[in-house]
Amino acid sequence: MILVLLGPPGSGKGTQAKKLATEHKWVQLSTGDMLRAAIVSGTPLGKQAKALMDKGQLVPDSVVIDLIQERVQAPDCKQGFVLDGFPRTVAQAEALDKLLVEKTKKVSRAVLFDIADEELVRRLGGRRTCLKCGSMYHLEHLQPKVSGVCDVCGSALVQRDDDNEATIRKRLAVYHETTSPVAEYYRKQKKLRTVDATRPAEEVTRAVSLALTK
Ligand code: AMP
Repeated sequence: MILVLLGPPGSGKGTQAKKLATEHKWVQLSTGDMLRAAIVSGTPLGKQAKALMDKGQLVPDSVVIDLIQERVQAPDCKQGFVLDGFPRTVAQAEALDKLLVEKTKKVSRAVLFDIADEELVRRLGGRRTCLKCGSMYHLEHLQPKVSGVCDVCGSALVQRDDDNEATIRKRLAVYHETTSPVAEYYRKQKKLRTVDATRPAEEVTRAVSLALTK
């Protein structure tokens, strides 16, 4: 299974991608996580990406396509993978199709997480993230056992630099302009299914699982 999760920032793609990856032994591939890892390592790529990410802008297609191209060659991707946050432009979707064709593979399904912008602003503003393992929490409805500490790995939780209101609104504008057409790209290929991402996480998990069967 090669699964693409599409949806605006904060719609729960990352949470669901982790669950699906664990349940089916697929690999979760998140370009956002890869870029944040590059930032933490202080690589030139990380520095270039950080400046754009902090402004809520996308990093260039060529950068994320190279990251994905390299990563999907790894043996652990043979079983299948779930893409979260990639592709974000039609050019990225086309590049993904091209690189999969070379491996005689193709995207199996694309699942769109449907949710209103105002709900996302509320969700993202309260979001706290573990930069070490990527686990996510929320100040109101997904609190860690110990305030400010990751339940999974014990590292400090932070508010991502791009989770402030001005940057959130910019990321949503970029999403509507650039990423929404990606849904259309998969709709034309008859691979798109939509789930109501305002529902509680367990219900969204069930809806996504159902979407993979039809
Ligand atoms: P995310 O963690 O998926 O919300 O991504 C955080 C930020 O990383 C985005 O706002 C972009 O600046 C950058 N980014 C992540 N994935 C991509 C992508 N596929 N194309 C371009 N930029 C990306």
